[in-house]
Amino acid sequence: MDVTLSPELKTLIEDTREWGRNEARPAGLEADRAGAPLPPDHTYFQKYMDRGRTRGFSNGLEPAPEGRVMQMVVLGEEAAYWDRGMGVAAPGAGFPSGMVNAAGTPEQKERFLGPFARHTTPHWASFALTEPTGGSDTAAFRTRATRTERGYTLKGAKCFIGNAARADWILVQATLDPTKGRAAQRAFFVEKGTPGLTGMKIEKKMGLRSYESVSFILDDCEVPIDNLLGGERTEEKRGSGSGAYATTMGALNATRVAVAASALGVARAAYEEARRFAKEAGSIRSQRVRDKLEFMLRKIRGARLMTLQAGWLADNRTANIVESSMAKIVTAEVAQETAALGMEIVGLEAGAGDSIVEKLFRDAKALNIVEGTGQIQRVIMARNLVGLPR
Ligand SMILES: Cc1cc2nc3c(=O)[nH]c(=O)nc-3n(C[C@H](O)[C@H](O)[C@H](O)COP(=O)(O)OP(=O)(O)OC[C@H]3O[C@@H](n4cnc5c(N)ncnc54)[C@H](O)[C@@H]3O)c2cc1C
Repeated sequence: MDVTLSPELKTLIEDTREWGRNEARPAGLEADRAGAPLPPDHTYFQKYMDRGRTRGFSNGLEPAPEGRVMQMVVLGEEAAYWDRGMGVAAPGAGFPSGMVNAAGTPEQKERFLGPFARHTTPHWASFALTEPTGGSDTAAFRTRATRTERGYTLKGAKCFIGNAARADWILVQATLDPTKGRAAQRAFFVEKGTPGLTGMKIEKKMGLRSYESVSFILDDCEVPIDNLLGGERTEEKRGSGSGAYATTMGALNATRVAVAASALGVARAAYEEARRFAKEAGSIRSQRVRDKLEFMLRKIRGARLMTLQAGWLADNRTANIVESSMAKIVTAEVAQETAALGMEIVGLEAGAGDSIVEKLFRDAKALNIVEGTGQIQRVIMARNLVGLPR
C-alpha cells in the first residue's frame, strides 16, 4: 500500500486546512454554543458556495473518480479536524447523490442533481431511512408506499434525518409491503412543499449540533410516479425487486470509509488540543500526562492505517466490506477514547465547557452511531467472515 501524498493532494490539504481554521471551526463553534444549526441564510453557506465555484468543486454530483477514496480519507480527516458537523451541514446534494448517480434514471439525474451543478446560492438534499422504531434493521422500516392512479402515497414517520428541513428534496425509503422485506423496498424523491410532508422538528442533539437532524411525518404524502428512484420499469426489471435495498446498502458501504476518516479528524483534534493545553499548562512534565498523549497518538496512527487500507482496497477495486467496517468501528472508538482522555488532560476547563475538547467529546459519540452503529459493523463483519450474505 502506497500512502505517499502527491504535491496536488498536499495543496488540497492546505486549502482544506485554511478553510477549516478560518471558516468551518468558527462556524461550528458558533452553532454549538447556540445549541442549534446555523440558519440556511447564514453567510457561512454563501461563502462556501462561492469558494466551491471558484475552485470548480463538483459538489458530489459526479460519481467519485476512481482511485480517489484514499484522497477522500486524507481530506475528510482534515475537514473533520476543524469541524465534523460543518462538513455535513455543507450545501449540496450530499449523501443521496451517490444513490441517484447509481440508480436514478437519466431524467432523474438531470431533474434532481442537475440544479445542484448550477446553483449559486446554498441548496441541500437529504436522505431518510431511520424511523422512530429503529434505524439499524435496514430491512424493517415501516413507512408505507401505496400505488395510486397518479403515483404513490407515502405514510409514516422518519427521524434524525440530516438537513431535511432545508432540503429541496428528501430521498425517502418506504415499503410497498412490510411483509415482503427487502424486495418491497423503494426510494422516493419527496420535494419540499409536497402536501403531507409535515411536522418538521429539529431534534436536540448532544453533539454535532452544527447540522440539523430532523424528524418529520409523511401524512398521506402523494408523489408522482416519476419520483420513484430508478422508475417503475427498472424496479420491475430487477426481478427480485431488491434494487432499492441494494442501492442503499451500496451507498452506506461507500460512505463508511468517509465516516471513519471524519472520526480520525475528531480524534486528532482532541489529541492536538490536549497536547497544546498540557504544554501551556506545564502538565506535560508529568509522565502520567505524557503516557496519555502517547496512547492517544498510537491509537490514532493505527486507526489511520486501517482506514487508508480500506480506501486503498476501494481504489484498487478490491472488496473492502470487512476492512471498511473495521475502520469505522476502530476510528469511532478511538475518537471517543481520545476525546475522553483529552477531557482528563484539560481537566476543569474541559468539564466547564470552556475547551474545544468538551465539544469533541460530545461530537465523537455520534460517529459510533451514524451510518451503521459499531454493533451493526460487527454483525456485518461476522457474517462476512463465515460467508453469509450481507
Ligand atoms: C447525528 C446523527 C445523524 C443521523 N443522520 C441520519 C440521516 O441523515 N438519515 C437517516 O436515515 N438516519 C440518520 N441517523 C440515524 C442513524 O442512522 C441511526 O441512529 C442508526 O442507524 C441506529 O439506529 P437507531 O438509533 O434507531 O438504533 P436501533 O436500531 O434502535 O438500535 C439500538 C441499539 O441496539 C443495537 N442493535 C440493533 N440491532 C442490533 C443487532 N442485530 N445486533 C447487535 N446490536 C444491535 C444498536 O447498535 C444500538 O446500539 C442519524 C443519527 C445520528 C445520531
